Formats: sequence, C-alpha cells, structure tokens
Amino acid sequence: MKKKRKTRLSKIIRKQQLQQFILVMATFAILFISLGMIVFHTFESNTYDGIDHGIDNQIKEIKNSPKVIGQTQIHAPGQNTPDQSDPNHRSPQPKAPFQTSILIYNQKKELVNKSGLGNRYSVLKHVPMRKSDLNKKVNITINNMNFRTELIKVSKDNNNAAYAGKYVMVVQNFDNQMESLENFENILIVSFGIFWLISLVLSYLLTKITMRPIIRSWKQQSEFVNDAAHELRTPLAIIQGKMEYMLTKPNDTIIEQAEPISVSLDEVNRLNSLTNSLLELARVDQATTKLNFQTVEPEAFLSDPIRPFEDIVKSQKKNYSYKFDEKIQLHVDRDKIKQLLIILLDNATKYTPEGGKISISDKVENNKYYITVSDTGVGISDADKQKIFGRFYRVDKSRTKATGGHGLGLSIAKQIVKNHHGKIFIEDNHPQGSKFIVELPIKHKL
Ligand code: ADP
Repeated sequence: MKKKRKTRLSKIIRKQQLQQFILVMATFAILFISLGMIVFHTFESNTYDGIDHGIDNQIKEIKNSPKVIGQTQIHAPGQNTPDQSDPNHRSPQPKAPFQTSILIYNQKKELVNKSGLGNRYSVLKHVPMRKSDLNKKVNITINNMNFRTELIKVSKDNNNAAYAGKYVMVVQNFDNQMESLENFENILIVSFGIFWLISLVLSYLLTKITMRPIIRSWKQQSEFVNDAAHELRTPLAIIQGKMEYMLTKPNDTIIEQAEPISVSLDEVNRLNSLTNSLLELARVDQATTKLNFQTVEPEAFLSDPIRPFEDIVKSQKKNYSYKFDEKIQLHVDRDKIKQLLIILLDNATKYTPEGGKISISDKVENNKYYITVSDTGVGISDADKQKIFGRFYRVDKSRTKATGGHGLGLSIAKQIVKNHHGKIFIEDNHPQGSKFIVELPIKHKL
C-alpha cells in the first residue's frame, strides 16, 4: 500500500519536473529566437542602410553634376573608366564605386550607355526598367547576383548632357554584403543552437536543484498526513469496537459496561491530545507562526513550568532538582520557551522509572545560553538520537499506551528552538539516562 503510494507520488513528481523542464526549455528557446531575430534584423538593416547610403550619394552626385565647358560628346557614365585621352579633362560622370553601375535610359526606356558598361552589359541588360519604380529602392536578382537599384528622372537642366532629361538608374551589386549577411545568419543559428543546448543542460540541472526542497516538503507533508491519519484511525477503531459491543447488550447497566466506557473515554482523551498536538505543530510551523518576542531574563520562562513540575515528579516517587543562576537577557517568546521546557520535562518524567532523578539547570558559555534537562531514565541509543525529532517517531511504540505519547512532542520542541535561531541536541547522561540541551542566543549580559 505504502509502496503504491510512493510510486504514485514519484510519478507526480516526475511529471511536475518534466513540465517545469519543458517550460524552462521553451522560455530559453523563445529568448534565444527573439534575441537572434533582433540581432539579425539590426545587422540586416545596417547592411541595407550602408547600401542605400551609397546609392543616395551616387544619386546626389548625378543630380548635382558639375558644369563641363566644351563638352561635345555624350559620355557613357557610370563606369570606372577614367577618360584616358586627356588626363586633365574633368569627366562629368560621377565616380561610381566599384560595385556600382549607372544605367541611362531614354524616354523610350532604351539603354543609351551600353558601350560604357563593357562586359557588365551582358548582365545589366536584364535589369528591368519600370517607371513605376521611380524613386524607389528595389532589390533584384539576375544570374544569382543581387542588386539594389533606384531609378530617378534627371531634369533637363542637368549639367551633364549624358544625364539631362534621361532616366538614370543606379545599380548597386551587394553580393559581398549578402554573403556576409548569410555567414552572419549561419554563425548566429549555430552559436544560438549551441547556447540553447547548453541552456537545456543547465535548465535540467536547475530544475532538479529548485525542485529538491519542494519535493522534500511534498514528501514530508504526504508522509505526515498519512501518519496523522494512521494515528487517528487506531483510537477511532477502538471506540467503534467498544460502542458496537455495547449495542449488543442493550439491557446492561452502565456499571456492567464500565470497561468499554472507560476504554472509549481513554481513547477520546488520546484523540484530544493528538489533535491538540497536531494543531500545535501546525502553529509552530515557521510559515504560520507569529511569535511574540520579548526581551526577558530566564526567570520569566523558567519559574512557571519548573516549580509546579516538582509536585508531579515527587508524586511519582522520582527525584527532582533545579539550579538557575544566570543573569542575562534573551530575546524570546516566553510562552513558547515554557512550552518547550514542559515537553522536555514531561518526557524526562515519562521515560524515567521510580527512584530516578530529573534535573534542570542553565549556564552561559561562548555567549550562548544553555538549558539542560537531564534524567536517569531509559536513555536513547545513538541511532535514535536524530530520529526522535521526526514527526510521529517513537523509540518503543509498544510503550505508547503507557506513556500516552504520539511522537510529536520533540518535533514541536525542535520547531520552537528553530524559530528562536537556537539548537537542540541530546547527550548521554552518565551512567544512565539522557540529557536534552537547548542552546539560545543571548541578547545582553547583565
Ligand atoms: P512522545 O509523545 O512519544 O514522548 P516525543 O516526540 O516527545 O513523543 O518523543 C519521541 C520519542 O523519543 C519518545 O517516544 C521516546 O521514545 C523518545 N524520548 C523522548 N524523550 C526521552 C527521554 N527523556 N528519555 C528516553 N527517551 C525519550
């Protein structure tokens, strides 16, 4: 039954882990893709800006061509073909950069500077000339070559007769930029892919680490609920049994049925104390407790539980001693510390046989305040020393009936100490019994 519950729990946990992992993975993917798109888009628009800037400069030069005196012949501008016949002759044609060509069309859309284009003509003749594209930047691809173009209409007053009144198209080849854009895209995809894989591994580890405390408290909570239900079930089953038995004897008197009645009452008492302990445990749980901290001397929380205990212990024919002489101030919730001492004194009394001795004392050492509750009782084995602070843990379950414990007292004690930033530990009391030592931080020495 317990095994079945455990596998169901680990199935839920695994599902939860997977969900969280997928969520983290998707988040990283979205982050990387958007980052990649932003970087690529920025790079791409910078590249196009650079190309467009070149085209715009070219157009500006065409529109503001310098005046040429004595120009008789129409040049075919747009090429990097300096006028070699006269080195002093200032060519009216703009100095187009290497990757730029200038195409001049007449009104009939015929290319008029074919000869000046040289061997580029075979490619550039395919550039479509559309008046609808006037003053627009257009991307075209010819023979796997990429060009960005802009068509303008040059005014008749232009100084360069080659351009005047013509349609001029600036054609910029951007294969180089395209290639680096593609390279950049590939690098981006590969490097982001690698980083995504790394982030997958990291997110897997991260999921495992972040889920660990959740899983632990989940398991603890589920165990706690199961144990609590189990503890409640036993007295309820006894009460039910006794009641059903009494129903079979409707004519009996109360005296005749005294035994089942008193057993039922005992179990009701057990249920009462169990529910009180469960409530207390829920209350001292760090998340829900609001402690009433005050600065007090030990006397404030020691005198109340200790002196009345003397009567109980002595009535059970056990010896009792206490010794307090520390004058210091502590910042504590005095009611909670009282409750802690009652748990320890109650246990010491419960687990010490007649004739045994229970003592309580305090001391200050290394700026810490220590309260020690020792007994000469049954003692606690080393293996049980840590376990007994666990919820519902009892060393000898068969003795429970006699002692009336549920195994919750020390869990409450541990939580109280934790809430006070202190510690609680157990030592053997030589030659017989155990010592419970509570360590609390000191506020002031008096
Ligand atoms: P309980 O209500 O059963 O006493 P606790 O949480 O207070 O629950 O204690 C848990 C277990 O630790 C007890 O069942 C008992 O076996 C053991 N224990 C606690 N205090 C002492 C002590 N002073 N001497 C011996 N055993 C002790």
